[in-house]
Amino acid sequence: MIAAIELEGLRKTYKGGQSALDGVDLSVSGGTFQGLLGPNGAGKSTLIGLMTGLVRVETGSVRLFGHDPERDPVAARRRVGLVPQEVNFNSFEPINEIIATQAMYYGLPRRRARERTRVVLERVGLLERAERKPWGLSGGMKRRLMMARALVHEPELLILDEPTAGLDVEARRDTWSLLQELNAAGTTIVMSSHYLEEMRDLCQSVAVLREGRLIANNTPERLFGADAGSGTGDQGLEARFLRLLEKGDPDAEGNQ
Ligand code: ADP
Ligand code: MG
Repeated sequence: MIAAIELEGLRKTYKGGQSALDGVDLSVSGGTFQGLLGPNGAGKSTLIGLMTGLVRVETGSVRLFGHDPERDPVAARRRVGLVPQEVNFNSFEPINEIIATQAMYYGLPRRRARERTRVVLERVGLLERAERKPWGLSGGMKRRLMMARALVHEPELLILDEPTAGLDVEARRDTWSLLQELNAAGTTIVMSSHYLEEMRDLCQSVAVLREGRLIANNTPERLFGADAGSGTGDQGLEARFLRLLEKGDPDAEGNQ
């Protein structure tokens, strides 16, 4: 079966010489809930940018369902939804138009775009506000709007860049349950985060980035231990993560 995402040898150096990625290989099979875990500056957003065609690939290759998103942007775009790290909708456009415009960009006919706009706004609990401008939405609601926009064309693959950063507990829980429902219904999910608990609880596989390198990609059980997080101090999740950063993937060749 063709992988949902296949990344090979990705390197990225920004203008000015800042190296952001230093040779990343990653394969994500269809249906997986894949995490991208790493501290600020590790290269998560750069990796997501390269996957989605927002950052130009200079070295290495990206395939989404076998397509090169730079050479075949339409094919890739229709199957992928992106929730970027920063809010990037137009605050002067009504919510339903933000979503419908995006739907047409993805190639949905006008009528279908309107239907799907209703469905996704209902799904994220913003239908009553559909005609209003997003001005004044809370942080959690802005995220939900971005989620609705990314889902309007029913993508097979949803990529989210720190979707829960800065949200309160309730908004984070809502996001988690929406993502779990989508994944259970077959959507492949790639989510970046620096919160250890949600990586452990949601992801089937967690890729760990440190300073532009992928130092591990494994199940939460293998990365953090079967009882991860039930302990405290040395046995707690954070201590285990710090050891992981030092030692790398427990199942990689050369490690014990
Ligand atoms: P993360 O999302 O994990 O916080 P980023 O991918 O945003 O990491 O950043 C990786 C590295 O690349 C950091 O050192 C960051 O400062 C640098 N970087 C990111 N975007 C740019 C840019 N547009 N120009 C120059 N350097 C950048
Ligand atoms: Mg980032």
